[in-house]
Amino acid sequence: MAFWRWKLHWQILLGLVLGGLLGYLTAAWALSSAKAAGDVTAAGDIVVGRFDFMIYKLIGDMFLNALKLIIVPLVTSSIVLAVATLAAKGGFRRLGVKTLFYYLCTSTLAILIGLTLINLMDPGFSSDGSGILVGQDLGAFAEEAEQLEEKTGGKTASDFLDVFREMIPPNLFGAAVGGNLLGLIVASMVAGYFLTRLAGDLGSLLQRVVKAIYELSLAVTDLVLKFAPIGVGMLVAATVAEQYARLGPEDRFNEFFGGIVLFSLTTLAALILHFVVVMSLILLFIARVNPLRHYKAMAPALMTAFSTASSSATLPVTIECVEERAGVSNKTASFVLPLGATVNMDGTALYECVAAIFVCQALGIDLTFGQQFMVVVVALLTSVGVAGVPSASLVAIVVILQQVQNQLGGGMDLVAALPILLVFDRPLDMCRTAVNIFSDSVGAVTIARTEGETGLLTTEEPPEPGEVGPKLD
Ligand code: ASP
Repeated sequence: MAFWRWKLHWQILLGLVLGGLLGYLTAAWALSSAKAAGDVTAAGDIVVGRFDFMIYKLIGDMFLNALKLIIVPLVTSSIVLAVATLAAKGGFRRLGVKTLFYYLCTSTLAILIGLTLINLMDPGFSSDGSGILVGQDLGAFAEEAEQLEEKTGGKTASDFLDVFREMIPPNLFGAAVGGNLLGLIVASMVAGYFLTRLAGDLGSLLQRVVKAIYELSLAVTDLVLKFAPIGVGMLVAATVAEQYARLGPEDRFNEFFGGIVLFSLTTLAALILHFVVVMSLILLFIARVNPLRHYKAMAPALMTAFSTASSSATLPVTIECVEERAGVSNKTASFVLPLGATVNMDGTALYECVAAIFVCQALGIDLTFGQQFMVVVVALLTSVGVAGVPSASLVAIVVILQQVQNQLGGGMDLVAALPILLVFDRPLDMCRTAVNIFSDSVGAVTIARTEGETGLLTTEEPPEPGEVGPKLD
C-alpha cells in the first residue's frame, strides 16, 4: 500500500525510525571523518556545525513551531466551549473534582513506583556501599554543568512559586505571548463560565465565534499532523545526532558512569511499569475500554511527545487523538487535557523522585523513611508547577534537593552533583513526556466513562483523524 495511504501512526513510526537512523549515521560519519582528518574540535561542535544537521533542526523546529502556533487559539477556544457547556448544563464542579482526584491518584502512584524501584536498585551506591560520587572529580561534567546553569538559572523554591502566581495573568496577551498556559486556561475557564450569563443573544453570538475558532484550530491541527512523519523524523534525527556526539565516542567517563546508566535504566523501568501496568489497569477496570486500542489511538500523540519532549507542544495532537480517535466528547477532553498538560505530569513526578534520591545516594546519603516521604510530597507538589517544556523538571529537582539539604544541614551541597543527571536527560525527558500526555489521555477516557459517555473505544478499529468530526457535547 502506498505510504500516504498508511494509517497515521504507522507513517509517524516510520518517520521516527528513519529519523533516528539518519541522525545516527550523520553523527557517526561526521565524527569518523573528522577523526581521520585529525580534527580535534569537540564532537558535539562538529555535528552541530554540519549543514545536514542544521537542515534536520530547521525542519524539526518548523514542525514544532506549527504545533505551538495552534496552542493559544485551540486551548482558549476549547476550554471556553467546554466550560460554557458545563455551566449551562451543570456539572462543572463534579468534573473538576473528578479531574483533580484522577491527577492526584495517578501522580502519587507513579511516584511510589519510582520510589520502590530506586530503593530496590540503589544505582547511586557502589558495591562497597559508598556513594558513587564520593571523592570523585566532577570536572568531566563541565559541559553538563553549563547546560544546567542555562536551564535552571539559579532558580529556587520561591521562583518556583511564580508558576502559581501566574495562574492569574495580569495581561491576557502577555500570557499568550509568554506561553503561560496555566494562566490562559484559568482565564478561559472564567470567560466560558460567564459566557452563558451574558444578556440577550450576546452569549450565543460569542459562543458561535469561539466555536468557529475551535473548528478552525482543529482543521489546522489536521494539516500539521499530515507533516508529522517528517517533522517527528527530523526532530529525532537532530536529537540522536547530538546525543551520539555528546556520549558515544568520548572516553570521559570513569567507573561511576555505570551508576548513571543504572539510574537511567531504573527510571525507564519505572516509567514503563506505570505506562503499561498502571495505565492499562485503569483503562481496563475503571474506564472499561480496550487498552490496546487506546494505545493505538494515542500513538500519534505519544510519538509527538517523544520527539518534542514537550507536553504543551503536543497538546493539539493529544486533543485531536482523544476526541477523534478515542471518541471522548469535546466537553470532557477540552476540560481534562489542557489542564492535564500543565498540571498532571506522572512521568515527571516519578522522575523527580527517582532523580533526587539518586543524587543523594551518589553522594553517600541514605535518606531515612521520613526524608523520602518529604521527597515524595515535594515531588508531587512541584510536578504540578512544572511547565510542559523540555527539561523543565530540572528546576523542580533543584527545589527538592534544596529541601533535603535544609533538613540534613551540615553545609552539604547536593545541587553541585546535579550535572550528572544531564547525561541522559534528553532521552529520559522524551520518555517521561510520553508518559505525561498518556496519563492525561487515560484521565480523559476514564472521566468520560464516569460521565456516562458512549462512543468510547470498544472493539472496532479507531478512525483516522478527520474521518469523524469532533463531538461538541
Ligand atoms: N518535558 C516534560 C513535559 O513537557 C517536563 C519535564 O519533565 O521536564 O512534559
